[in-house]
Amino acid sequence: MTERALASAPEPHSQPDDSAMLKAVGYAATHSFSKLKRFEFLRAPAQANEVELEVLFCGVCHSDIHQVKNEWSNTVYPCLPGHEIVGRITRTGASVTRHRVGDLVGVGCMIDSCGSCAPCRSGDQNYCEGPNSWLATYNGPMVPAAKAPGKANTYGRDNTFGGYSNNLVVKEDFLLKIPSGIPAAVAAPILCAGVTTYSPLKHWGVTAGMKVGIVGLGGLGHLACKLAQAMGAQVTAFTRTPDKLDDAGRLGIAAVLETDRQAMEPLKSSFDFILSTVPEKHDINPYIELLKRDCTLCIVGALEPMEPVNNAQVAFHRKQVAGSLIGNLADTQEVLDFCARHGIGPDIEVIGIDDINDAYDRIEKGEVRFRYVIDMATLG
Ligand SMILES: [Zn+2]
Ligand SMILES: [Zn+2]
Repeated sequence: MTERALASAPEPHSQPDDSAMLKAVGYAATHSFSKLKRFEFLRAPAQANEVELEVLFCGVCHSDIHQVKNEWSNTVYPCLPGHEIVGRITRTGASVTRHRVGDLVGVGCMIDSCGSCAPCRSGDQNYCEGPNSWLATYNGPMVPAAKAPGKANTYGRDNTFGGYSNNLVVKEDFLLKIPSGIPAAVAAPILCAGVTTYSPLKHWGVTAGMKVGIVGLGGLGHLACKLAQAMGAQVTAFTRTPDKLDDAGRLGIAAVLETDRQAMEPLKSSFDFILSTVPEKHDINPYIELLKRDCTLCIVGALEPMEPVNNAQVAFHRKQVAGSLIGNLADTQEVLDFCARHGIGPDIEVIGIDDINDAYDRIEKGEVRFRYVIDMATLG
């Protein structure tokens, strides 16, 4: 299962010739300062344990922007993002048993993992310790061959093309079922934003009555508020943007401006769990002070070095500062089902693929208080 740009030379190892390949079209960036543009390419057809799907909707995640702009210094170009994908199965491989043609399915951040390391054996594919770690839905394996032990290339691929496209080929084990209670476009962001926030809420045992803080009220943050609230927690959102206080009000959530000392002071030592969803380096010290003894602040938004932590605050009250990365396949299915059961989901705005570059600009300016979802029918 590999992709290649049209008119490029076939790779040396065994691949179907072009006539057997699936024609695909999507939007990709060719270098770190290029806009996303229409891009035609070929996908290898489904093998026995894979399915082909028509992509219907794809959510726009902040990490798509980081990746397109090479802000994590690991982008492989061309970069065709998209890992919040909802589609309909158009063909199944011979040994596929769990899905049928016509099924509405989801694909999140992963399309494969080593399957044999300790995390994979215990169902945590998202923490795969195989030589190339997990295979991301776009931008190839998390550990590229050049950086892998012995230059291993266990997936035989160095780049993958994601969901900003008309079709996708995925192993059946990495497909999620979209519950009938959620509209397809609304389900898309649950596949990354949903599980990224649900997984730590579950892991750190958030239950009814707990006091939970959510830092940041963007794509991840607003969904985290809804999930924690549906779990029965007493939720407070923290933001640096005064306008977002109203957004929190609409979600029925108490909100506090981080810079409002008078409002922050009485909240000290009162929270059971705090989740930070801010997508870049920020100061978490004001939030560590808000935790009760023995409680945890988990960071899911920023994947980079953070401002230094004052360990006096951490040590004196035996607090924990933690991180969490997306979620495993079981948690992804669980959060989809949880959202359907509770009638919740992200606030979305559906856009055409032509709007994608403008959408990136607005997300980067922090103007967006919902999730953009691309209607892939607009690819034409
Ligand atoms: Zn994402
Ligand atoms: Zn593994």
